[in-house]
Amino acid sequence: MLERLMEITKKHHDLFKYSIPLIASENVTSYAVRRLYMTDFGHRYAEGWIGKRFYQGCSYMDELEALAVELTKRIFGCEHANVQPISGVTANLATFFALTNPGDCIVSLSVPHGGHISHDKFSAAGIRGLRVEHYPFDIENFNIDVDETRRIVRNLKPKIFVLGASLFLFPHPVEEIVEIAGEVGARVVYDASHVLGLMAGGEFQDPIEEGADVVTASTHKTFFGPQRAIIMCKDELAKVIDRGVFPGVVSNHHVHSLACYVMACIEMIEFGRDYARQTVKNARVLAEEMYNLGYKVLCPDLDFTRSHQVAVDVSDIGGGDYVARKLEECGIILNKNLLPWDDVRNVENPSGIRIGVQEVTRLGMGEDEMREIARFIDMALKDKNPGKVREEVREFKSNFLTVKYTFEECPAYEVI
Ligand SMILES: *Cc1c(COP(=O)(O)O)cnc(C)c1O
Repeated sequence: MLERLMEITKKHHDLFKYSIPLIASENVTSYAVRRLYMTDFGHRYAEGWIGKRFYQGCSYMDELEALAVELTKRIFGCEHANVQPISGVTANLATFFALTNPGDCIVSLSVPHGGHISHDKFSAAGIRGLRVEHYPFDIENFNIDVDETRRIVRNLKPKIFVLGASLFLFPHPVEEIVEIAGEVGARVVYDASHVLGLMAGGEFQDPIEEGADVVTASTHKTFFGPQRAIIMCKDELAKVIDRGVFPGVVSNHHVHSLACYVMACIEMIEFGRDYARQTVKNARVLAEEMYNLGYKVLCPDLDFTRSHQVAVDVSDIGGGDYVARKLEECGIILNKNLLPWDDVRNVENPSGIRIGVQEVTRLGMGEDEMREIARFIDMALKDKNPGKVREEVREFKSNFLTVKYTFEECPAYEVI
């Protein structure tokens, strides 16, 4: 059993070591972050709020959590921060607990339009017993249709407008939705899970500045952190949000990964600007190159993307499922994705694939490498010899095995 475990672990690490990782919700952490994952913080309980815990032994965990709050405020300029949610879904669930009652209505993006399942009845919103209405969507601009939204909401009386997405190419119309929400007495919750690192680096919209009441986000997609989440909000909501988190949906909150989050904040302050700038640039270049190779990259008239993501319609070359599998065979790892014209029930074989360049950027890749990745994707889909492409991908990746944008560069895919 011991050997089997270690073999599985080693093989998993080698899989990613020699593949091109393009899943838009993933990233690698530095050793500075990983070292803290192994600390004694991971053995303890810090139930409650800073200075008001239910167990003894929490004094330094209080200091740690206070530091996490301080850094979050400094990076994002929020009035209040709760750093306890252990995942993005938990953060959204806590927010729904805080701001709604069962039976209330919220407005969010449908999954084919880029929304996350936790904004919908299948997940967090459903668990809270919320009625979910979807925004009208402007496919051409890949964004919320503000005028149509204004027209329909009068009859809905929503409690929350959810913004932010999982397929997230362009900034959302926060100011416009805040205005509409103000007219109907609703709150605006912006889910920044995908773009938190870009926001920290000043490369995406600033939903706090633009007036959102609450910003939720997981900390491990474009941000440098471990898998957990934060909630930022206006002071007037601090109390309800804190209670939504604890005792709402969190008891212990995995203090070792909180320490990792603090380190990720410190890295972001130092390296976030360069990293975010390169990430956004890389996404554009990859999109453009794929478009030039003849792929149906979404939104060519809008320069494809302003985030770390690229979306491609592959329905006429076998569909998202086929393409994602074919690419995996050649060592290119990404996911199939619903696109706006897909039925939400068609999750098994949707029209699209989603590509994220944040992890390859963290490994030090730039524009030249994006052009190479586009060519690898093209070869993988056209070449009759996947074994040969796999070999070339492996060789290419061997030059990018180090985590950059950190104080001390370190291996990305070794078992420590
Ligand atoms: C990934 C994601 C989440 C969920 O985050 P987890 O940490 O995986 O629970 C929530 N919202 C959006 C928009 C996401 O993309």
